[in-house]
Amino acid sequence: MSKIQNLELLVVGGGPAGLSAALAAANYGIKVSLSEEREFLGGQLIKQTHRFFGSEKEYAGTRGIDILKKLIDEVNKNNNIEVLLSSRVLGIYEDNIVTILNDHKMKKYYPQSIIFATGASEKFLAFENNDLPGIFGAGAVQTLMNVYGVLPATNVLMIGSGNIGLIVSYQLLQAGVKVAAIVEAAPKIGGYSVHASKLRRLGVPILTSHTIKKAIGKEKVEGAVICELDSNWNEVKGTEQLIKCDAICLSVGLTPLVDLLKQRKVKTTYVSELGGYVPLRDENMETSIKNLFVAGDVSGIEEATAAMIEGQIAGLSVAKRIGKNSKDEIEERIEEAKNELELLRSGPVGKKIRKGLSKLGLNHGKNYNEKFSEEALDISHLMKTGVPSEENLKNKLPSEEKVFDKGPIAISECFQRFPCDPCVKSCLFNAISENANINNIPYVDFEKCTGCGICVSKCPGLAMFVIHKNFSETTSVVIMPYEFLPRPHKGEIVKVFDREGKYLCDGKVIRILDGKFQDKTAAVSIEIPKEYYLQARNFKVEEGNHG
Ligand code: SF4
Ligand code: SF4
Repeated sequence: MSKIQNLELLVVGGGPAGLSAALAAANYGIKVSLSEEREFLGGQLIKQTHRFFGSEKEYAGTRGIDILKKLIDEVNKNNNIEVLLSSRVLGIYEDNIVTILNDHKMKKYYPQSIIFATGASEKFLAFENNDLPGIFGAGAVQTLMNVYGVLPATNVLMIGSGNIGLIVSYQLLQAGVKVAAIVEAAPKIGGYSVHASKLRRLGVPILTSHTIKKAIGKEKVEGAVICELDSNWNEVKGTEQLIKCDAICLSVGLTPLVDLLKQRKVKTTYVSELGGYVPLRDENMETSIKNLFVAGDVSGIEEATAAMIEGQIAGLSVAKRIGKNSKDEIEERIEEAKNELELLRSGPVGKKIRKGLSKLGLNHGKNYNEKFSEEALDISHLMKTGVPSEENLKNKLPSEEKVFDKGPIAISECFQRFPCDPCVKSCLFNAISENANINNIPYVDFEKCTGCGICVSKCPGLAMFVIHKNFSETTSVVIMPYEFLPRPHKGEIVKVFDREGKYLCDGKVIRILDGKFQDKTAAVSIEIPKEYYLQARNFKVEEGNHG
């Protein structure tokens, strides 16, 4: 056993919250030791190939893996941060001594402050045969595919329609795996509607008010029996159906990893809205034990953007306490971060978090405006099926057909209030309504819109399209976002589908914008018969067209 080493700040966990916390403190002169049990930094960011929603300040529109590169780059350049990889925190004791296992050696540290950013673990689900090989957690599927390049199966049934279930389903499709269906026990989709809509366009059924009864198979998964649930969550007899699949992926929620906090006797309480047992903490992320802070999923399950801001608040709070720089300046930055977090949580999708935080006695919402807490449109059909209603669509289309005569115009098929604004920020012509609140629904000003198509590639929800109705006497052109391989060739004939993934017609690829600017979300112009300009929202490249 080595001697005890004094530290100024120990950050436990090298995911988005831990990295942000380390940087925030180190930028104000604090000497930070960042311990990560794996041999690489990044936590969940390493698997996140999709673009982030949220605010511009917190990398909205950037892919998780690219955010990670930026954060690691900043950490590596910062002389105040020492990174301890393959370092597992084994225990924290009453005198705040921490033991860390590294390279088969146990080391003891005595940090002045600690920020726990230990993240969360996946929840499991009880059903018959749930121990058959071929039943995965969504995180495991992402790790296999996105970290190790291994396909988990050929045909997956996804259980759970929260953002993780929807994102992993999309990534499975991108990897060439079929998604048989997404099964959701609740009467509505749990994740953002834009994620659900892009899966529906790709032909994936989303079955709300359904659950899995049992897995089928002898040696491994060969299928699953699912059934409908009534409004009291009871099984509806006679609704069982067999879904063929060779893997079942569970995405039924996360629970904060509070074990180390409990060992240190930090006060915790059960808050279902935050995912399970969470530490009591103040608005500066300090727990019931002085100088012991938390950030990210360990303090309550939320999106990665919120985790990064919480990390900043915790890191800045430590910097303020240790006080090597102007406390006023740090305080100002803490307030900015708190306001940003509050804005993120201020819409309808933040309701659950706000309720959970209020159970912790946190008076969240001093800037919170009641009118942003409800959906602006009736999106019940959309949230049940992933497909917008006629009314939803009417709300986003020009009120007069003649507007289409001016040339190509953008249509935003984004109907839900959630924190996101890259469409607004990317439009050089200010043609998308400036959001007073980041949770507002974007509207296109058809007078200003030039149909340039920039927003098609910049929208993380793949919800922006450009329609040129009168491209020719008989044809229209729709510019659609495309994130699959192989890319189509100019002049190629492709199959065109509607919002439910139903085949509509053949279309001709007339232009592909797929450079650095589009950052892997190509904007593809497809010429189609004019009668389909309001329905055509997806296309597939025919196998065999690519030699
Ligand atoms: S198509 Fe171009 S001008 Fe129109 S909203 Fe999108 S970015 Fe703005
Ligand atoms: S349309 Fe705008 S607000 Fe909606 S997902 Fe796209 S970028 Fe975000």
